[in-house]
Amino acid sequence: MTTISTTPRRPGAAALLTIALTAACAGQAAEAPPTVLVIHGGAGTITRTEMTAEREAAYRAKLTEALETGHQILAAGGAGLDAVEATIRVMEDSPLFNAGKGAVFTAAGRNELDASIMDGASGKAGAVAGVTTVKNPISAARAVMEKTWHVLLAADGADAFAAQAGLETVEPGYFFTQRRWDALQKRRTGDGLEPLPAPAAAARTSPAGPAYGTVGALALDAKGQLAAGTSTGGMTNKRYGRVGDSPIIGAGTWADQRCATSGTGEGEYFIRLGVARDVCARLAYLELSLAEAADQVIHGALSKAGGTGGVIALDAGGNVAMRFNTEGMYRGWIGTDGVAHVSIYGDEE
Ligand code: ASP
Repeated sequence: MTTISTTPRRPGAAALLTIALTAACAGQAAEAPPTVLVIHGGAGTITRTEMTAEREAAYRAKLTEALETGHQILAAGGAGLDAVEATIRVMEDSPLFNAGKGAVFTAAGRNELDASIMDGASGKAGAVAGVTTVKNPISAARAVMEKTWHVLLAADGADAFAAQAGLETVEPGYFFTQRRWDALQKRRTGDGLEPLPAPAAAARTSPAGPAYGTVGALALDAKGQLAAGTSTGGMTNKRYGRVGDSPIIGAGTWADQRCATSGTGEGEYFIRLGVARDVCARLAYLELSLAEAADQVIHGALSKAGGTGGVIALDAGGNVAMRFNTEGMYRGWIGTDGVAHVSIYGDEE
């Protein structure tokens, strides 16, 4: 029997879902682990007053499409890695998210994209940073993992590798969207040399639209194996060459045999705190529940350090935690029954 429980709602805080498995009855083998997919589409100042009904509907529809795409793979017995990659590609191809097509601009007016992927069963990982011509950076990250002995390739070398690996490439202009360009003009404060807190705080309160929109996906497949991936355009007005947490294994993405995580928020904090790994380490070393571990890292360590953002987490038992210290986080999950659950605001489950 599968049971689902939800924590009390805490506006502006987080949502938690627990899918607990129990044996069907005494004397029988426990049910197989559920297949579960969890996603985020970025955390930040996402409030009802700043959202139009049309825009909200578009986000919910695309998050649902992403979940259903990954679920189809898991339901057919496919690998978690395939589900994570396919799910993230749906969001990368949408201008709604700050990843792939909808990536934000650097202070220099370019798009530099970061992504990473990790396979919990083998511990292998791959990542790309600062790519400018790869249509789907998550696939480039996977190619780094599977076709090289490296973990992270950056800039020109990563672009050249992706082309050589046969991945779809685009002209840099493919990533232009008016909305992200306008957001850059409103936030442009110079050459990107100013300290982080100023532009980051401005970004959080700017009427120009969400500063965030990074995407992430976690999967638990029918074999009980976990996978995680994250993809982003980074932060609006970032200095060119800046690399955030999303392609850094242990900061923005983590997966091991028990736990998988993907983060979104002010990457510099996520790197310094090793957020993605910290959640799973607390689960392993302190024997906390997934929810407690995610809580400690987001509402404890991250908030204490002054950073904002959120994390999605999934464990091998199918427990799901989605924690954030911002007003909202685009997020959702889908279990074995194939029903997509999508939330945006802090007062939703
Ligand atoms: N974490 C990403 C970065 O710092 C941005 C985000 O999640 O919105 O590059």
